[in-house]
Amino acid sequence: MKIMAKDVYQIPVMPRSGINTYLIEDFLIDAGIRSSANTILKGLKGKVVSTHVLTHAHADHQGSSSAICEKLNIPLWCSELEKPQVETGDATKEYPKPNHIVTRFQKYFWAGAGYKVSRTLKENDFIGQFGVIETPGHSSGHLSFFREKDGLLIVGDTLVNMNLLTTFVGLHEPPGLFTSDREQNIKSIKKLAALNPKILRFGHGPVLLNTGQFEHFAKKL
Ligand SMILES: [Zn+2]
Repeated sequence: MKIMAKDVYQIPVMPRSGINTYLIEDFLIDAGIRSSANTILKGLKGKVVSTHVLTHAHADHQGSSSAICEKLNIPLWCSELEKPQVETGDATKEYPKPNHIVTRFQKYFWAGAGYKVSRTLKENDFIGQFGVIETPGHSSGHLSFFREKDGLLIVGDTLVNMNLLTTFVGLHEPPGLFTSDREQNIKSIKKLAALNPKILRFGHGPVLLNTGQFEHFAKKL
């Protein structure tokens, strides 16, 4: 587990920050794939965790959600639009190609069981000091989280900071195969860029200390 700030921890569940989860204040953001539970629970040892929050319901984010919520006896929150996918544990209907072999692989090997959602989040809600930002497009009810005082942005999958095939670091739109509505997602990227975040933490890829690269990337889309 990497300490990012005194109340922000990154718990990578794949090498090279291929898939990340975060503890921000006492909220666990995302939960990797189905086999990630022990890694995440180890990372959370000794920390206060009150709530598990999902950016979205894809299998590489909700894989260990049910196992962790049961083990720690904590509630699960997400957006209203993600709730059905979170509660069934199946987000593949929203993918552009639900029957693609990679989609099917994720469904059978990465996705975890569904879990009851205790509260839904919307724009301008807060989790701790983080404001909820609705960033639909990659999935219908995708959320990001922004803490104004230090410019810290939890991006989710609105954009990624690695080429998911080569693992080379760099800003990219999320893969088309797993993105419900690309045009809407580009709007969400621009919405996040307008916040001028200082630190970006991604679902996929290492942290970005932003000195304008993000705004430049967003402008070109
Ligand atoms: Zn995703």
